[in-house]
Amino acid sequence: MIAEERIEKLGQLAREAGIKGEEIRAKRYIFLAQKIAQRHRLKFPVQLKRFICSACGTYLVPGRNARFRTNKKCVVVSCDCGSHKRYPYKKTKLKGMEE
Ligand SMILES: [Zn+2]
Repeated sequence: MIAEERIEKLGQLAREAGIKGEEIRAKRYIFLAQKIAQRHRLKFPVQLKRFICSACGTYLVPGRNARFRTNKKCVVVSCDCGSHKRYPYKKTKLKGMEE
């Protein structure tokens, strides 16, 4: 399997684990995906990055451990750890936001 596919797969696994509430496992998958990206000097997928708390590394699941809010300009993501991040939502389509 090529590195990009592995990262994508790990992202999926992290998402599944996150949805089940297995946050430690989700974090582990994220960690592995980041390591692969680093090792292969790949850009970490933006789609995936959006769902990772930059402060605590948790995979963010809307309605479970994170709140996603939109205003006119951007999406604001609040993690349970108290960290917020915001980004313009026109640039990237967000899979999973509609759930
Ligand atoms: Zn956090």
